[in-house]
Amino acid sequence: MVKLTFYGGVNEIGGNKILLEDGEQRLFLDFGFPYKRHKQFYEEYLKPRGGAGLLDPLAIGLLPPLEGIYRDDLETPGLWEQFRDVPFYRKLDHIDGVLLTHAHLDHSGHIAFFKDSIPVYSTAVTAFIAKAVQDSGKADFDQQVCYFDRKGPGKPAGWKQEALLTTDKKQQRQFCLADAELKALSEDAVKFWLKSPGQKPLISCSLTGHSGCSFNLRCFPVDHSIPGACAWGIETGSGWVIYSGDLRLHGKREESTRKFIEEAGKLRPRALILEGTNVDRTTNVFERDVYDNGLKTIKGAAGLVIADFPPRDVSRLLTFLQVARDTGRKLAILPRDAYLLKTMRLLEPEIPDIAQEGSIAIYQDTIASKSPNVWVQNLCKEYGSKMILAEDVRSAEDKFILCFSFWDINELPSLRPKPGSLYVFSSSEPHDEEQEIDFRRLHKWLEHFKMRGVGLPVEKKKNGEKSEWEIPEEERGLHASGHACGPDLLEVARGIKPEVLIPIHSEHPDFYVENLRSSGLDVVLPTVGGTIEV
Ligand SMILES: [Zn+2]
Repeated sequence: MVKLTFYGGVNEIGGNKILLEDGEQRLFLDFGFPYKRHKQFYEEYLKPRGGAGLLDPLAIGLLPPLEGIYRDDLETPGLWEQFRDVPFYRKLDHIDGVLLTHAHLDHSGHIAFFKDSIPVYSTAVTAFIAKAVQDSGKADFDQQVCYFDRKGPGKPAGWKQEALLTTDKKQQRQFCLADAELKALSEDAVKFWLKSPGQKPLISCSLTGHSGCSFNLRCFPVDHSIPGACAWGIETGSGWVIYSGDLRLHGKREESTRKFIEEAGKLRPRALILEGTNVDRTTNVFERDVYDNGLKTIKGAAGLVIADFPPRDVSRLLTFLQVARDTGRKLAILPRDAYLLKTMRLLEPEIPDIAQEGSIAIYQDTIASKSPNVWVQNLCKEYGSKMILAEDVRSAEDKFILCFSFWDINELPSLRPKPGSLYVFSSSEPHDEEQEIDFRRLHKWLEHFKMRGVGLPVEKKKNGEKSEWEIPEEERGLHASGHACGPDLLEVARGIKPEVLIPIHSEHPDFYVENLRSSGLDVVLPTVGGTIEV
């Protein structure tokens, strides 16, 4: 019997943590950051205490109480004595690895807690994006996926508060690439992998192929809102177990998802663990519609255009790049996007070369540009004339599409866009109260600077009831979701035709029970911390 235990992603979107056990062999399928539960306890200024290591996430239930698999440099003295009688406590002497489906933190974030001896299996693009995101961002200790600051001397006995200060010695994790010939990686790609963003060597980093895994694995590329996404197949004593990760059938790489359905179906799998983010939707906006609608909206716009789309969605960035070319504007991207594009190009030569691409500029944040980080200084050296500042945009507003998100909106005082400038919203609507508050703020900013929002959800207040957010009818079609809609998900399930289907990453897993009743598939709903035997 193969056991599947679900520690996250049950009745919630994201935070997937699934333990697969076949006798003494064990794998985790993703090990994501549990945003929903995290937000119930924490906010920007109330965070788990980095200095408390594993204590806070274990005590709050963000991390399953599994002794033996987490970094011992994060163990405070006597830690495990406190957790040995909590529900779901187990001691695991080892796990063979974690199969990571893509580099979104709700799937990858908590890998930060694993011992560095536990290898991460992923596509090359996922590994490189995980590093690029960490290099160019401010990853807290609970989101350091690719490398981390080792606290103290690495032994619980040596744990001291002062030893928890960040050092510049960063320990890299072992990534095993599922889809790349290591020999085929360019020298620049290897160099990128081996150095910190400050260009210091990382400690004992190793990049290997995936053949060393004790399981026979299959890695299937799929389409999602981040490049490099894959689904996994694991051959077990009970037959093949397939894990979808996040996917869709309406993006630029839909063919890869179709191929996954076909190939996984051929394995006659015992079980399919399938995502269900958008089970409630009946249709999709396609990525190519976003281009058409974006072009229509931006063509003839006067003044500045700001495009707000999800970070790391390279497909969307390229969609807006095409709109920029076709409207005679330049796409002004932030340094972190430039860093990501440059990283992606190390693996995929069809990604545009910023140096050669006439329609790309790199916008530097007004205040940060005064003392840039080393990695931004390096971008400046490499792309000199492409770097622009607020004054460059101000003097030629109608020549740019600026790629900002809500979190960059505090740049507007430096930009002071002309009244009537456009804010194109190409991202998802609010999903919780905190995001609703952010949307009210965004509306306030646009109102204050007399900018016109397009595609932006507007609040519909209902008497005494929860307010609803809706995009005005005539402004829809500027965002394509990263997730398949209900009918497409049923197509995936029916096409792969497992004996057992286990829904995950969904607030409405019942959808599968209701819609697959007569199809011969046995739908089994997971519970938090519960085990399903297949
Ligand atoms: Zn995702």
